[in-house]
Amino acid sequence: MPVGTQGTVKAVTKDQLLSTKPQIILGNTYHLYLRPGIEVLEYFGGLHSFMNWELPILTDSGGFQVFSLAKERSREGKHKAEVILTEEGVKFKSHLDGSWHFFTPELVVHIQEIIGSDIMMPLDVCPPYPVSHTTARDAVEKTLRWLERSKKAKKNDRQALFGIVQGSVYPDLRKESALRTVEMDMDGYSIGGLSVGEPAQLMYEMTEVVVPLLPENKPRYLMGVGTPENIVESVDRGVDMFDCVMPTRNARNGTLFTTYGRLNIKAAKHRFSDIPVDEECDCYTCRNFSRGYLRHLFNAGEITGMTLATIHNLRYYSRLMEDIRHAIGEGRFKEFKKEFYEKYNSLKNQP
Ligand SMILES: [Zn+2]
Repeated sequence: MPVGTQGTVKAVTKDQLLSTKPQIILGNTYHLYLRPGIEVLEYFGGLHSFMNWELPILTDSGGFQVFSLAKERSREGKHKAEVILTEEGVKFKSHLDGSWHFFTPELVVHIQEIIGSDIMMPLDVCPPYPVSHTTARDAVEKTLRWLERSKKAKKNDRQALFGIVQGSVYPDLRKESALRTVEMDMDGYSIGGLSVGEPAQLMYEMTEVVVPLLPENKPRYLMGVGTPENIVESVDRGVDMFDCVMPTRNARNGTLFTTYGRLNIKAAKHRFSDIPVDEECDCYTCRNFSRGYLRHLFNAGEITGMTLATIHNLRYYSRLMEDIRHAIGEGRFKEFKKEFYEKYNSLKNQP
């Protein structure tokens, strides 16, 4: 899922985004609640009509942003105690103007009903990494109690509501969180609290603990992941859905994902390069422009460079998922994975 934090996927128009063939995009409840605000979204009839987007939208609960943005600000030394966690909900300071807000599980479902997303996430407690077993256990328990309240607050059957499995990097907590979340018979299951700074190997290990406990007939979503390698590895472990800012954020920095690995388009070696970013890619950028031209746009600070790079990276990710689905359908995922690594590591292995 391309990430459309504030009602837009950064640097691309709707048609450009559609040309990369996404199946669904993600919107951020925290950001949309603060700006433009739920009264604006309500006035425009929800996010689909506000941004003129017909395909599905998944919204996160805002919990992750509440915790992570507060941490970022306190690191910068600007403010203290910007998040107050209680049984009732979470009180937090806006990263925009410092005003105080209070999210409860019920309010977060209500906001997402106004947004009108197709898949909603319940408010959860996402502890940082590393965290003690005790704090991680409290987060699991509170997330489960909040899920119960979210389920009760939900008013329609048109929108799906997932459960979120927490438990940090503790296998016993992950197991318990998964089993008790599944007992609540949700529409799908998210694996939260990973990709928060832990080593990739730990993320894979936790996924291996959780996925076998989730029902086969419901989607499994690994939140906030990841690199192309992370995606291939997690699909191998049974995950279906992903979201990450990686393709879009990297594109704006000039880092492009290709069949043969990552490349930095700003590098001097591309100055006279007349080949496309990725010769195996069918995107608008690769069909029309050279690496040399893209490099020039980035070095000249032209915003079109960011747009063209974003189109390519989004198409790279959606093509990766298409290839994965085909390989699974044909029963040759293991071979696909081997070929993926052989090709993807080839740029890295060049002298
Ligand atoms: Zn391309």
